[in-house]
Amino acid sequence: MFDKILIANRGEIALRVVRACREMGVKSVAVHSTADADAMHVRMADEAICIGPPSSAQSYLSFPAIISACEITGAQAIHPGYGFLSENAAFVQAVEDHDLTFIGPTAEHIRVMGDKITAKDTMKALGVPCVPGSDGGVPTLADAKRIGEEVGYPVIIKATAGGGGRGMKVAQTAADMEQAFHSARAEGKAAFGNDEVYIEKYLTTPRHIEIQVFGDGKGNAVHLGERDCSLQRRHQKVFEEAPGPCITPELRARIGKVCADAVAKINYIGAGTIEFLFENDEFYFIEMNTRLQVEHPVTEAIFGVDLVREQLRVASGLPMSFTQDDLQINGHAIEVRINAEKLPNFSPCPGRITQYHAPGGLGVRMDSALYDGYRIPPYYDSLIGKLIVHGRDRPEALARLERALGELIVDGVDTTIPLFHALLAEKAVQTGDYNIHWLEHWLEDNLH
Ligand code: ADP
Repeated sequence: MFDKILIANRGEIALRVVRACREMGVKSVAVHSTADADAMHVRMADEAICIGPPSSAQSYLSFPAIISACEITGAQAIHPGYGFLSENAAFVQAVEDHDLTFIGPTAEHIRVMGDKITAKDTMKALGVPCVPGSDGGVPTLADAKRIGEEVGYPVIIKATAGGGGRGMKVAQTAADMEQAFHSARAEGKAAFGNDEVYIEKYLTTPRHIEIQVFGDGKGNAVHLGERDCSLQRRHQKVFEEAPGPCITPELRARIGKVCADAVAKINYIGAGTIEFLFENDEFYFIEMNTRLQVEHPVTEAIFGVDLVREQLRVASGLPMSFTQDDLQINGHAIEVRINAEKLPNFSPCPGRITQYHAPGGLGVRMDSALYDGYRIPPYYDSLIGKLIVHGRDRPEALARLERALGELIVDGVDTTIPLFHALLAEKAVQTGDYNIHWLEHWLEDNLH
């Protein structure tokens, strides 16, 4: 096991990693920009080092700043968290070139899965079911129109380099194709420097179901069931649960095995998530995330495992601490993402926290880097906390979520907490009867 690792991230996820390190007797180094000098992850880590100005490009995304911070502090490995450099193959290469360990998959795995066309081809070859669509990239509008006819409208045009819900446009009919094709390409180019796009059948009422996988890099891999993340706004998850309300043990065992076998075959190392759309009892692969996900705590809750601990174990060459047979589901867990945003437009709302009180009690976990008097800087993501509840079954988890939300106090800035109070009153949320479009429609009817 490592003696000391550096955490190349901020906010709740940096704190999450510090906590795992402390329990494992591993020293942690926090890095921070000048805007984060007073941040909680800086206070909680064993050591902290300033790596640049507020702009992420010059701090949390700067290879030289982060690698020098490792060299100065003697950290042997880097945990990237999620976002920032977590899926940056060039960074992984740089880390390895400096004889440091990246706590995550290889540069090659990140490269393959980071390009959605290559990822789809790879998964198809490994026996994973995919959404019907174009065979690879679609270079011209004429090709796009032909494929639209073949696949059948509606279709979705997706940037192969896309992520975070960007670079995707739906064409409902052939008449929309020109506009959708050009704007998906332009968005891909502007956001990711790559204008290649591909086309998929647009599924009209799917759920978003993702499978957590974990590999040891030596050909062994397990799955830790699914998470249902169908409640999304602008393709961004806001409420996640495990197990999925409509996934039977048979469906789970079938798709779980397909996923675990696929990642075992490519000697995948560490945590990964294989994302699917799920409609009429069929799974359709959309992408793989080669990192820890924001919503990993719901999986941890129902399986009673610490995924960050496992990441450190396999990165240091140790085996995973569980086998597939050890992994049994216990109860139901839900996570809600609390953002510093003003409703109804979800506009970012940075500022000073005048009062913060975290909920507690049986089955309640609050992952947040907030504290009384903390000033949320305007430069980064608006996620300020994740409330995770665990109950014996779904109704108990829902009741616990309502109770915990009632205890949570975040004063001084606007937050998305009221959204969750309102959602819990909805029949569809209570029964789990929703798909990926449900929340968008609800927001239109209720907030605008
Ligand atoms: P990103 O990498 O930007 O997160 P994904 O490919 O994972 O993009 O897709 C994000 C979300 O977009 C999905 O959860 C779903 O809501 C929607 N989506 C993607 N592909 C399709 C599709 N073929 N049909 C319907 N919705 C889709």
